[in-house]
Amino acid sequence: MSNSSLQKKFIADEMVGKLARLMRMLGFDTLYFRQIEDSDLIDLSLKEKRTILTRDTKLVEKVMVKDFVLIESDDPDKQLSELMKKSGLTPDENDFLSRCLDCNTVLEDIPKGKIENRVWPYTYETHELFKICPRCDKIYWEGNHVKAMREKLRKIGVYRSD
Ligand SMILES: [Zn+2]
Repeated sequence: MSNSSLQKKFIADEMVGKLARLMRMLGFDTLYFRQIEDSDLIDLSLKEKRTILTRDTKLVEKVMVKDFVLIESDDPDKQLSELMKKSGLTPDENDFLSRCLDCNTVLEDIPKGKIENRVWPYTYETHELFKICPRCDKIYWEGNHVKAMREKLRKIGVYRSD
C-alpha cells in the first residue's frame, strides 16, 4: 500500500454496489453487502471508522451518520468521479487490482507454476504475473478485460499524472 489516502476505509450501501467494485479495483478497502439493514451499516461504519457511500438522502440525515459521501449520479463511472471530487482521494495506479473485487481481501502474488491448471492454457502462456485472493481463492491477472478497466479508470481521470 503506497499511498496515505488508501488508509481511508469505506462501506457502500445497497444502491452503489458497482461503485464499491470500482473502489476495490482502485485498492480501497470497501465493504459492500447486497442486503444490509441501515442500522447494521451505520454500526459497522462507526466501529470500523468507515466512510459511508450512499445515495440515500434519508440515511445521511440520521444523527449517528456523520462520515459519509452522498452520491448523486446513477452511473457507476460518474459516481466514481463524483466520489473522487467530493472526498479528495488520490488513488495510486500502483494499487490497481490489489484487492479482491468479490470479497475486498488484499490479493497476494502467486508463482505462475502454482496456478497452471487453474487458468486457460492461452492465459497461462501469455501472462507472467498472477495474484490470488487468500479468502475466496479467485485468481487475477491483467488480461484484456482488466486492461480495459485500467484504461477506463485513466479516462475517468482518477489517476493524476503529476
Ligand atoms: Zn476474494
